[in-house]
Amino acid sequence: MKEYTCIVCPNGCSLVYDELTNTCKGNRCPRGAKYAENEFLHPMRSVTSTVKTSLPEYPVISVRTSTDIPKEKVFSLLRELNKVTVSEYLPINSIVIKNVLNTGADVITTAPMRKGK
Ligand code: SF4
Repeated sequence: MKEYTCIVCPNGCSLVYDELTNTCKGNRCPRGAKYAENEFLHPMRSVTSTVKTSLPEYPVISVRTSTDIPKEKVFSLLRELNKVTVSEYLPINSIVIKNVLNTGADVITTAPMRKGK
């Protein structure tokens, strides 16, 4: 048995997942059962963080992954972000790292950058 808190919606149901029977209790909807199964088999996470820039107005900028990545790669991704320095003004959703760690996800900016903001 594994216990999870469903994060699919704000209800935050407390889930108990039985990995032997692949059944779930505590979920108020089917999405919770799928969430518990995924958490057990291959947990994924969306990552938001920052990267540094060489631009005077922006010591750092906010970024996120374009899709969820495997949970076990989150710390490796954060190390990759530490290696990046953005040196130009980018619009929102610009790719900072393409296909990061071969996950299929890009790291993208979450806000537009303006010179002299
Ligand atoms: S089980 Fe359904 S209702 Fe409960 S938190 Fe998950 S998505 Fe929301």
